[in-house]
Amino acid sequence: MPFSIPPTIEKIPELASLPPSTRAAMLTAADAPGPWRLWSHNASRGVITTVILIWLGHDLVYRDLPTIGSMAIIATLLATTTFVWHFWTITRIRGRIRAGIATAAANERTPICLRCGYDCAAVDGDACPECGTRLFVSPRPSDRDA
Ligand SMILES: [Zn+2]
Repeated sequence: MPFSIPPTIEKIPELASLPPSTRAAMLTAADAPGPWRLWSHNASRGVITTVILIWLGHDLVYRDLPTIGSMAIIATLLATTTFVWHFWTITRIRGRIRAGIATAAANERTPICLRCGYDCAAVDGDACPECGTRLFVSPRPSDRDA
């Protein structure tokens, strides 16, 4: 599965393979925000970060620019910082969701790859076909006999 940043928490691939009731429980357990809360938080943090960057760089970079150049820089900074905050939020909540899936699948095979998110429900074998990560959380099958 290619590296991707989904636009909302609900679109995280790990969740897509779960039944709807499990999915809702995972979202609640991870304290996952809905799309509106997610993007309003990302955008407001993006605005704050942009204001700080403009304040820091005013005398160095922006002061001598024409108005249109300044506005282009502000728009680019705003879009970039908002995306960086989105990346941070998605990554953090994805970690919580993966931890929840790992806990729910203790001593069993996980239905999805906890490393890349590949849906392994229909896969035979102990490893993710996409990235090779083992699908058993703990203990691994080789540890059981020991
Ligand atoms: Zn994988």
